[in-house]
Amino acid sequence: MNARDIRMFRRGGPEALAAEAERQAEAKRRAKARRRARPVRALGKTYEERQAEVEARWLKLKARVARRHRGRCEYRDRAARCTEPVATTDHFWSGHGRRRALESVESCWGLCAFHDQLRTHNDPTRLFWVAVFEGHVIANGLWTQLQLIARERARLKGKRRSA
Ligand SMILES: [Zn+2]
Repeated sequence: MNARDIRMFRRGGPEALAAEAERQAEAKRRAKARRRARPVRALGKTYEERQAEVEARWLKLKARVARRHRGRCEYRDRAARCTEPVATTDHFWSGHGRRRALESVESCWGLCAFHDQLRTHNDPTRLFWVAVFEGHVIANGLWTQLQLIARERARLKGKRRSA
């Protein structure tokens, strides 16, 4: 509590503090809504326009990934590739706050419903899926991914040690 909070508490009790917190939260929400509605000056685009662009970019990327997998799941176990149809375009590096930076035709792959389910839950382990992805990367010559794979292995190793 700062001096202002203490004064408010003396005057109005905990209700006054709660009301003040609510007022501040509301002001924050309004400011955020205003930011979203306002066009970005440099680009001259609204939030919705930018969202539409993100969506269009993703559709384009999906189409490029599809040119490689041709509708067939890209999971492979040693030499044998899954024969099921692709259900999802999966971004292998999503979920680490790096999604946008690393999203590319090399980092995305098409998976069938079954393998997408396992991949999403890192079932049986993340390390297993890193190895599967590495096999896919090598089979397709997606060399930009090798350094990321090495980094991910190092990260997982560090995690295991500290656990
Ligand atoms: Zn599959």
